[in-house]
Amino acid sequence: MSLEALPTLREALEAHGLWAKKAFGQHFLLDLNITRKIARLAEVGDGDLVIEVGPGPGGLTRALLETGAQVIAVEKDERFRPLLEELAAAANGRLTLVFGDALTTDEAALAAGRPAHLVSNLPYNVGTPLLIKWLTGPWTPVSLTLMFQKEVAERIVAAPGSGAYGRLGVIAQAACDARPVMDAPARAFTPPPKVDSAVVRLEPRADRPSPQRLDALQKVTAAAFGQRRKMLRSSLKVMGGEALVTTAGLDPAARAEMVDVKGFLALADAWLASR
Ligand code: SAM
Repeated sequence: MSLEALPTLREALEAHGLWAKKAFGQHFLLDLNITRKIARLAEVGDGDLVIEVGPGPGGLTRALLETGAQVIAVEKDERFRPLLEELAAAANGRLTLVFGDALTTDEAALAAGRPAHLVSNLPYNVGTPLLIKWLTGPWTPVSLTLMFQKEVAERIVAAPGSGAYGRLGVIAQAACDARPVMDAPARAFTPPPKVDSAVVRLEPRADRPSPQRLDALQKVTAAAFGQRRKMLRSSLKVMGGEALVTTAGLDPAARAEMVDVKGFLALADAWLASR
């Protein structure tokens, strides 16, 4: 059977007696117009390698395959194996299925040295830890096109001074250029979640900090935003306080929410140099 001849996603779910499970953060995109738009925003095409996390019923997977890309799909819910095996059979060798937890998946081993794009309608319950893993880990994708809860998407792209600005935005923007590319209302999903969603596209920066600097950045942002109302000289007291902040060229009386990404990188560097 070819991709075009496959039953609709709803028919496939029914034929396999599958329904969404809350524990796996399952909210499905069954409208191929939406999944095709995400595949377009991912800017992938013929011969590109894509790692997709959480294919579920395979709507986004189908759209990615239609672009001509080669897809490696990592799914935790074994119930989807028979349905996804039918999709793999229709994909003529361009879909590889991996059943396991994306939090512990070794993407470098999956990609086997080939550059790979990450595309996913992420499970809400593990979206942020997965993003942190891809931003700070030793393996770097070519690009990341990811659906999050809207509130998380806003935090990823937030600018200093905004209420959404925090650790996630600093780490994401230090490692990548990040921009929102699509909104998706809750009603676009089956079953609909309680909140709206948005797709963010992230492209790793040429000056992406080393894993050691990103680790230091995680520590200073945890301390600074852990007490975001305090001045840096107090919130960073255990890491060096006023001396550390001055060495980084920042005002010890500044608060975390006003410090830009460059400022946090300077704090991370000053802290690494002080140890
Ligand atoms: N891609 C499908 C779509 O757009 O309709 C499903 C998206 S649904 C929001 C999230 C998917 O991620 C589900 O299929 C779920 O089983 C899977 N999932 C949840 N936790 C996972 C994990 N830790 N590793 C891999 N897949 C996971």
